[in-house]
Amino acid sequence: MFKIEKKLKNKFGRVGEFITPNGIIKTPAFIVVGTKATVKSLSPEQVNNLGAQAVLGNTYHLYLQPGDDIIKKAGGLNKFMNWNGPTFTDSGGFQVFSLGEGFSSGENKFKSQKNILNRSLKISSKIQNVHTKLVKIKEDGVEFRSYIDGSKHYFTPEKSIEIQNNIGADIIFAFDECSSPSAEYDYQKEAMERTHRWAKRSLYYNNHHYLKNSGVQFPSSSNGNKQALFGIVQGGKFGDLRKKSAKVIGGMDFDGFGIGGSFSKEGLDETLRFVNGILPEEKIKHLLGIGEPIDLFIGIENGIDSFDCVSPTRIARTGMLYTKHGRINIIKAEYSRDFSKIEDDCECYTCKNYTKAYLSHLFRAQEMFASTLASIHNLYFIVNLVKNIRQSILDKNFYELKEKFLKKYYA
Ligand SMILES: [Zn+2]
Repeated sequence: MFKIEKKLKNKFGRVGEFITPNGIIKTPAFIVVGTKATVKSLSPEQVNNLGAQAVLGNTYHLYLQPGDDIIKKAGGLNKFMNWNGPTFTDSGGFQVFSLGEGFSSGENKFKSQKNILNRSLKISSKIQNVHTKLVKIKEDGVEFRSYIDGSKHYFTPEKSIEIQNNIGADIIFAFDECSSPSAEYDYQKEAMERTHRWAKRSLYYNNHHYLKNSGVQFPSSSNGNKQALFGIVQGGKFGDLRKKSAKVIGGMDFDGFGIGGSFSKEGLDETLRFVNGILPEEKIKHLLGIGEPIDLFIGIENGIDSFDCVSPTRIARTGMLYTKHGRINIIKAEYSRDFSKIEDDCECYTCKNYTKAYLSHLFRAQEMFASTLASIHNLYFIVNLVKNIRQSILDKNFYELKEKFLKKYYA
C-alpha cells in the first residue's frame, strides 16, 4: 500500500511511504541492487548500516543460478540472503534481451551487459555462436541461451511470474520486452504492444494460478504476506508510444508501476511528465536502472518514488568515487599521498575511518577490501542524496537543494 505524505507544488514530485510485507520504504528511495542475492562485496549489515532501505535481486540471474527452486526451499529471498528489509525482483526481461543480439549501439545501460557477454564467451566454448542466435522472440515468450553455459531456456510472462513467486520478493515486475535503445519506431511500437499483452498475462497468472494450484489466496512474500506486482511502461524515446503505454499499463490493476527502457538524456524530463501525467497518481512509480545524480533530481521532481541502479557499486569496484564535486578516480597518482578523507563531512563508515591514500593503496594492490570500502561510500552517497531530496520536499526547499547540488557536482 502506498501513502502520499506531501507533494511538490505544481509538479508530480511527492514524499510517501510504501508498506511491504518486510517493512516500510520511505519514498523517494534509492533501492540497492543485489543481482545474485548479494550486494557485491557487502554484508547485509553493511548495506543496512549505510542507510539502504531495500534490495533488488535479478530474476534472470537467480533463475540461472542457484535456481528459484533453491531460493523457495530456503524460505524466500529474504531468508536466503539474510536481508531483513523489503525486497524487489525485476522481471528478467532486461537481461534476457540485453544479453542478446542487436545491442551493439553502445548506449549506457547496455555497455556493461556487453562486458558480461564477452566474459561469458571466454567461460564457455559451447556458446561460440552466441552472437548470431542468442534470443528468439515469439508472441508467447522468448527463447534465450544462458550466459553461463549456453543452455537453452524459455521465458514467458507466466514463467517469469512463477519464478518471481518462488523467489518471494515483496515487489515483483511483469515480464516486458526491453527493446534496444537504437530500435526504430516501428519495432519499438511492436515491442511495446507485445509488452502490453504480456503485462495482461503476467497479471492474470499472478492473480489466478496460486488459487488454482495450491488453494492459497495469493502469491506470498517470504513471510506469508501478499507480493506487490508492478506493470512496466515501455515505448523507448518516442513520446506518443510512452503516452500510449502509460494509458494501457496504467489502466490495468497493478499495485505500482515501473518505467523502463531507454531515454535520451534530454528526454527523461519530458517522458516522465507524459507518463506520470497519465498513470494513476495514487500508485507508486519505480524508474528502472537509473541512478545518475541529475536523473535522480529529474525523476523525483516528475513523480518517481523509487530507483535502482548498479552504477554506485559497479563504478566503485573500478575505483571511481562520488564526491560533491563530481566523480574522482582514487587510483590516480595524486591520491597516493593524500591523507584526507574522500569527503570530510561524509558520515559513511569509509570516510569516518579511512584516508584517500589508504583506498588508493588498496586499489593499486588489488586488495578485496578496496571494493567494500568504495561500495560503502558510493552507496551511502546516492542513498543519502535521495534521502536529502526527500527531506527537501518536506522542508519546501527542493529547488534550492537541486540548484546547489547540481552546480557543484557538474561544475
Ligand atoms: Zn563516505
